[in-house]
Parts: sequence; structure tokens; C-alpha cells
Amino acid sequence: VAARTATASPASSSRAVVMTSYQVGPAASNRASCKGCKAKIDKGALRVGTVTPGPGDYDVTSWRHLECQKHPKNLTSLDELAGFSGLDAVDKAKVEAWFNNSGVGAKKRSADEVESVAQLNPKKMKAAEMKKTLKANGIDATGSKDELQGKVQETVKRAAAEAHYMKMTVPQLKAVLEANTQLKGGAKQELLDRCVDGKVYGALPRCPQCGGGVLRVVYPSQTGHGGQGKFSCPGYYDDDHFVRCNFKAEHVERLPWVEP
Ligand SMILES: [Zn+2]
Ligand SMILES: [Zn+2]
Repeated sequence: VAARTATASPASSSRAVVMTSYQVGPAASNRASCKGCKAKIDKGALRVGTVTPGPGDYDVTSWRHLECQKHPKNLTSLDELAGFSGLDAVDKAKVEAWFNNSGVGAKKRSADEVESVAQLNPKKMKAAEMKKTLKANGIDATGSKDELQGKVQETVKRAAAEAHYMKMTVPQLKAVLEANTQLKGGAKQELLDRCVDGKVYGALPRCPQCGGGVLRVVYPSQTGHGGQGKFSCPGYYDDDHFVRCNFKAEHVERLPWVEP
């Protein structure tokens, strides 16, 4: 036992200093969903993977659309971005623009940007302005004027929620999630995304089948889903015993979101 402890402790302390790493590339399939907007990532779409050490010996990669991923502060060079050198010229240019526009010192600007989107009134905007806004927010900018207006309205609502939660600290975000019985794990960006999603579409309910898991959702599109999509139950831990659950649904009632 002593020998095991002796070998285990340097391994776990070296694990603690392992930095998160990032990778980029076109999605190989349309099976993964974006941790940011929770929509499916279409096959071929540029996505960024955040690689963190998992609970065992393996790493966990969470994916986001390029547009849904803020440039991480600890990514200081594109040489550190796995997969970048293998991209084609068009994708390289997109990733370079992403890297340069949301790089060091962008935190303040992006808060201002979010705030300015939150102030927009789509009813007073021309189609061209609405398209520009949607593109800048990484949302498909096609459709009739009514459709564009609906998309901008939703973008404004999301930006207002984001502006609200961006000012909060991690413990404050966790308190909001706690008050709504939502999952509290993850990095700050994930907590923020979860709060924005809940404020705009309502809280995710507990599983009606097992009563223990909080449902997760994958949206069929970035906008216009109204908080509905493919729901499933991740199961839950009952003390130290994991309870599996196979609950799936296409429609569940989202619960009123509360501010503690
Ligand atoms: Zn996304
Ligand atoms: Zn369940």
C-alpha cells in the first residue's frame, strides 16, 4: 500500500499542473454538440476542442463552434493549437481572424460588444444590418425579413442575459445554478453558458423517469428552437453508486428561471 501511495502521489500532483490544451478542425461527423450554444455541430463546421484531464487516465474533449468559443487566455500562439497547421487556407484564415480578434485584451471589448448587441432593436433595423449582426454572432444570416427579425430578437435576448451574467464571479454563477437546481460543474464559460441558456429558455427539469438526473438537451439549430430539442438523462450518483437512466424526449417543459 505504501508503495502504491508513493507512486500515485507524484502522478496526481503532475496531473494537477497539466494545462488545458486546445485543438481545432472541421467536425468529422455531426454527432457532437456545441458546449456553447448546445446545437449540433454540422459535419465539416470548424470547431474548437478544449482538452482537459478526465477523472481517469484519459482526457476529455469538449467541442464548440469556432464562433461559440472565446479565445482562451492561456492560448498565446496558434502553434499551440493542435490541428491548425493541417487546415486548408480558408479555414486557417477564419481561425487566424478568431485568434486575433478575441485575443489578449479583448475581454473588456467583448463585454462592450455583448452590451451593444443587448441594446439592439430588431424592429428598427434594416435587413442588411440584421444580417451583419447575425454574422458577427456566428448565426446563419439567411431567411426572410421576419425570420431575420426573429433571429436577431433571440440574439438580443441572449446577449442581454450574457451581459448580466458576465459581471458575476464563479461563486455567484454557481449560486444562480444552485437556485435553479442546475449542474454546477465546469469552467466559468460553461457556467455562464448554462446560466444564459436557462435565463432565455428556462431551467432544465429533473428527469421524470429516475428523478435524480438533470436533463440535458441538444438543439436542432442555433436559433428558433425555443429551448426544445433532444432531451436525455445523464443518470446520477446516488451516494457513490451511479444510477443509469435511458430517458429520452423530444419535448419537455422548461421551468421558470429564478435569480437568487
Ligand atoms: Zn455553438
Ligand atoms: Zn433519468
